[in-house]
Amino acid sequence: MTVIAIDGPSGVGKSSVSKAVAAHLGYAYLDTGAMYRAMGWLCTTRGITDVGDVVELVRGAHLEISTDPSVPTVAVDGIDVTEEIRSAEVSASVQVVSAVPEARSELIEMQRQIIAAAEPGIVVEGRDITTVVAPGAPVRILMTADDEVRVVRRAKETHGNASAEAVAATRDVTLGRDAKDAKTTSFLTAADGVHTLDTTHIDFDQSVGAVLALVTAAQKA
Ligand code: C5P
Repeated sequence: MTVIAIDGPSGVGKSSVSKAVAAHLGYAYLDTGAMYRAMGWLCTTRGITDVGDVVELVRGAHLEISTDPSVPTVAVDGIDVTEEIRSAEVSASVQVVSAVPEARSELIEMQRQIIAAAEPGIVVEGRDITTVVAPGAPVRILMTADDEVRVVRRAKETHGNASAEAVAATRDVTLGRDAKDAKTTSFLTAADGVHTLDTTHIDFDQSVGAVLALVTAAQKA
């Protein structure tokens, strides 16, 4: 069973690249950010911000996440939240969960179980996959891109265009979330043995090709 671990900041394109790599290889796909988002959605919906209550809620919640790269759905307590978790509100409040170590431990344990059960392999993306969740993965990649390039990519994703207004509206949200996340997870520089894939000057297809080349190289090694 092969694990391909991909970390990186927001807007770098790791979700779309990870899904394409998984589909190409016939592997499963795990979006760990969707797990944090689903729990963030639950806390926001219930108005819960107290750390102790957040941990209790995360421990008691029933999280279901699809590992099919063509149908990446997520549900919590039986409610499909695939669309809702992409809202600006959830993006802005997800750290109510992701900044809490005990809540992270719960989700990391679940991620490791999903990884262990995946056949014939799995592409796992997030912020701490190469370092904490699956540091023994045979392929570990940190995807990066210059800040402005990431902001433009995210603006196109959320506003459908990269007009000056869309880029301005996206800049603080994207870079602000990274700065907050960086206090909890280390995804801005590659750990030992992790390949840095700088996508600033390469497009989506080239990024997918670069990841597949790293997988092929690891399989030959
Ligand atoms: O990847 P995505 O932007 O959807 O992740 C949403 C949030 O989930 C991040 O901003 C971060 O707070 C959290 N996250 C995390 N560790 C991961 C994946 C996501 O803390 N492995």
